[in-house]
Amino acid sequence: MQHSVPPLNDQSLLKNETYINGKWVGAKSGKTFEVFDPASGKLIGTMPEMNKEDTEEAIKAAAAALPGFRKLTARERSRMLRKWYQLMMDNADDLARLITWENGKPMADAKGEVSYAAGFFEWFAEEAPRAYGDTIAATVPGNRVFTIKEPVGVCGLITPWNFPAAMITRKIGPALAAGCTVVAKSPGETPFTAAALAELAHRAGIPPGVVNIVTAMANTAEVGETITSSDTVKKVSFTGSTRVGKLLMKQSADTLKKLSFELGGNAPFIVFDDADLDVAVAGAIASKFRSSGQTCVCANRLYIQKGIYDDFAKAFTEKVNNFKVGSGYEEGVTHGPLIHDRAVDKVEAHVQDAVKQGGKVLAGGQKMPDLGSNYFQPTVIRDMTDKMQLSHEETFGPVAGLFPFDTEAEVVKQANSAEVGLAGYFFSKDVQRCYRVAEALEVGMVGINTGLISDPAAPFGGVKHSGFGREGSKLGIEEYMITKMITLGGM
Ligand code: NAD
Repeated sequence: MQHSVPPLNDQSLLKNETYINGKWVGAKSGKTFEVFDPASGKLIGTMPEMNKEDTEEAIKAAAAALPGFRKLTARERSRMLRKWYQLMMDNADDLARLITWENGKPMADAKGEVSYAAGFFEWFAEEAPRAYGDTIAATVPGNRVFTIKEPVGVCGLITPWNFPAAMITRKIGPALAAGCTVVAKSPGETPFTAAALAELAHRAGIPPGVVNIVTAMANTAEVGETITSSDTVKKVSFTGSTRVGKLLMKQSADTLKKLSFELGGNAPFIVFDDADLDVAVAGAIASKFRSSGQTCVCANRLYIQKGIYDDFAKAFTEKVNNFKVGSGYEEGVTHGPLIHDRAVDKVEAHVQDAVKQGGKVLAGGQKMPDLGSNYFQPTVIRDMTDKMQLSHEETFGPVAGLFPFDTEAEVVKQANSAEVGLAGYFFSKDVQRCYRVAEALEVGMVGINTGLISDPAAPFGGVKHSGFGREGSKLGIEEYMITKMITLGGM
């Protein structure tokens, strides 16, 4: 059943079934779940609500496809990925419409996501033929030692709704490049983009069973449990919250899987007195408010040095007051809705807590019931302190809290006080400070004088409770390969 269908150029990209073993299928139980448009609250359509049995079937298909797929030359797999990349770019408008429809982000952002997402197929098409082993000088006389790279096997991939295309391609790209086959659980909130990607995989000639997509509601634990407890699945790559990551890690323990976890963030964003104010404001706008603050790398705590604090607060608030909030399809809209009303409630709770403890609202601060139940005003709060909830919890919404600070040592300590460590940003013109602070921040990724750091060519990942493993870059493919050592004796 489909409702309120957006006008796609190619309607066959819109599915209400999912893709397993090269075929479009429903759940064995016949059950479906509903997906809602976050902008209007209207029903978009339904997708199969899959369970253990369906997931096991997908794992079986991936296992059956593995021997043939891993035997292809890396160049052959590279050509498939390149074709999939091209199909994504050729259908970029339709993919962007689907993303806006089910995720809510404005069309311009959705188009940006499509290029970013397709970029992982392009990048890993290039990396596939470059998975080199080593020749090693042996210590034992008469031996020759070398290593080869092999695909880890069947991979289970679990991704969130905030980048309905990019979080999936960032995992499938390197997995296929390495010669693995995959079972991907698409996010319950955004399964239609994942299905469209599967349709393009089919058209790209990816063999049946290599890419399998299991669909289920967001909180269906059964699919994840089946993937993590399966002995056939050799690796799990998860992007999502720290809470669910810890759960999946425990579930994976009995079968000792290779794991990559991209988890939650709470990014510090530091502006030193010597920063270029305009550059820092532009960086903060991009980092904090992209996708209405629903990115894992988005600035959560904005630490502004006291000498520049008032000027920054004024210039930043002016920009925020120029935002236009509404449906992502509407011309001129810069910021869309949040994913659901629970997200809005969390944002409101963080704002109320800050205000109760002395924070002063400079912009926004309220829900927007006139637009719908999923909207919250882009908000700026000054005079933030470390006691406030926002300082130690990821808000995942459009709230910028401005914390004043005096010294570099003090702000680095504050920045590193978070349990998580995904991204961190700072703005300064002092070269020595740039090195010093970049090295001192306990995060996996640092942006200096920029608020945007995502790039398929750059390693993406965190430290501390933000997880481990790296996606993109030359490192991304390593997560899907094992290094096999071979010793030849008797020389
Ligand atoms: P989430 O952890 O609730 O869900 C992520 C995925 O896990 C979804 O597909 C969901 O259906 C699935 N899931 C939920 N419960 C599960 C369970 N018990 N067993 C198996 N699977 C389960 O996260 P979310 O709310 O969808 O996404 C937002 C979070 O993701 C934020 O914390 C954000 O920082 C994080 N995130 C991290 C990165 C990164 O690269 N580090 C990127 C994007 C988002």
